[in-house]
Amino acid sequence: MKVDFGDLKREYLDIKEEIDSAILNVLNSGWFVLGKQVENFEKEFANYIGTKYSVSCASGTDALALSLMALDIGPGDEVITTDMTAVPTISAISMVGAVPILVDTLEDSCLIDPRLIEGRITSKTKAIIPVHLYGQLCEMAKIKQISKRFNIPIIEDACQAHGATYKNKKAGSIGILGCFSFYPSKNLGCYGDGGAITTNSGQLYKKLVMIRNYGQSKRYYHDIVGINSRLDEIQAAILRVKLLRLDSWNKRRHEIANKYSKGIKNKKIEQITSDPKTISNHHLYVIKTKRRDHLMNYMAENGIQTMIHYPVNIHRQKAYRSLGYNKNDFPVSLKSAGEIVSLPMHPYLTEKEIEYIISTINQYK
Ligand SMILES: *Cc1c(COP(=O)(O)O)cnc(C)c1O
Repeated sequence: MKVDFGDLKREYLDIKEEIDSAILNVLNSGWFVLGKQVENFEKEFANYIGTKYSVSCASGTDALALSLMALDIGPGDEVITTDMTAVPTISAISMVGAVPILVDTLEDSCLIDPRLIEGRITSKTKAIIPVHLYGQLCEMAKIKQISKRFNIPIIEDACQAHGATYKNKKAGSIGILGCFSFYPSKNLGCYGDGGAITTNSGQLYKKLVMIRNYGQSKRYYHDIVGINSRLDEIQAAILRVKLLRLDSWNKRRHEIANKYSKGIKNKKIEQITSDPKTISNHHLYVIKTKRRDHLMNYMAENGIQTMIHYPVNIHRQKAYRSLGYNKNDFPVSLKSAGEIVSLPMHPYLTEKEIEYIISTINQYK
């Protein structure tokens, strides 16, 4: 049997009629940027996340960069985040000219270690970006306490956490701003690039709407410095169709995660766990093992594609070497990066495939 890591073709074929007609509607409307589809999607997405507003944009990276711009964060400022994240979290901080300050992670969850945040705060710290990695929420109660005490805003990187919750609040509704990516493989993805920011602040909402559209307040009047970062009408129309299915897709991921966690009994495999107050959206299903490459080869030999999210920690990336990170500051994330493996995880996995993956892992020696 052959099992690919992801399979967006299965998804498309399942919802083909609705998607095709949504795209055709936009083509026939003759209106492609900032129209009715975007307007409606933003309302529906805010409503889903549980915030007053959402502003769509061109990518998750831009959602983070626009958020930093809206908070007037730029050169000379520092932003605290985690050493274990997708590089775009860091790209966004660099885009606005601020310095990414990295924090080590928790052994069990690979999420930012809240106990280490305070030690990294300086007079230049302007934001904290917790990353809800793999769809598990960070320990937000502790991070919120720090945010309150030092008066530093939280921007959630919820790019992997569409629909995940912490004490019944959805990712993206806990910090002052929440950032989402609609990259195709995310739990809610479009068929191209896209992103959004969620917020309850009317003032930040207004500012974000201007910044993503050249800083324009009304046509030809540019009140603040902005960029071009917009979701297009076709992607918004696709996302409106898919948003209606997000909860049922997440539910299926949850079932698959349960099957994995109950079914995998090999002593060589360690499962990762997060704060029990969190309900993950299971964007990725990550396990740890000592001889990681050996396991991945074994899985590949048996036709199962696995991946690593992410093999190279931020502090080890060449692009950020000049920032002078000290590897001794990241013992946990460094160790984790050498042991993690992501198993196939998407709502269109069949029962047969799931059983095959579990039995293959259980036979690994
Ligand atoms: C996907 C992702 C991003 C960025 O998303 P793009 O839409 O690809 O720009 C940012 N942070 C995390 C944690 C992600 O997984």
